[in-house]
Amino acid sequence: MDDRLEVTPGFKFNDWELRGVPLRIEVGPKDVANGTFTLARRDLPGKEGKHVVPQEGAAAHVAKTLEAIQQNLYARALAFRQANTHEPNDYAELVEVVQRGWAYAWWCEGEACEAKVKEDSKATTRCMPLEQPGGEGACIVCGRPARRKVYFARAY
Ligand SMILES: [Zn+2]
Repeated sequence: MDDRLEVTPGFKFNDWELRGVPLRIEVGPKDVANGTFTLARRDLPGKEGKHVVPQEGAAAHVAKTLEAIQQNLYARALAFRQANTHEPNDYAELVEVVQRGWAYAWWCEGEACEAKVKEDSKATTRCMPLEQPGGEGACIVCGRPARRKVYFARAY
């Protein structure tokens, strides 16, 4: 609870938002009189993320809202990942796409190929997913047979 009297509500809202608090519960004089409180979601700024709810069943409201926040953030992150993951058709395209996202491509697992990618694009292998498409492809760098697809990306 933030009961500081020396700062304004706006200062407090901002202060907690900067700390990453996902859900703010506001209780003002009007809320006390009406038996309500206001939930303010960090993931939905402005009026869209504010809801006045009855104090009765407060824990259930908070739990339900936190679940909705989690689902929203997950969906947003998944959409971002999908929008920024590319499957390059050749090496030149790999070098280009890793400048702004991830490249998912076959890799022969040779150190020389990874070193070349790093030298040409500053990207390295980031993840070798446990779930693989199966079969064999051609290494995006050298063209030799590759049994696994990996994610290449630049560190930031
Ligand atoms: Zn290779």
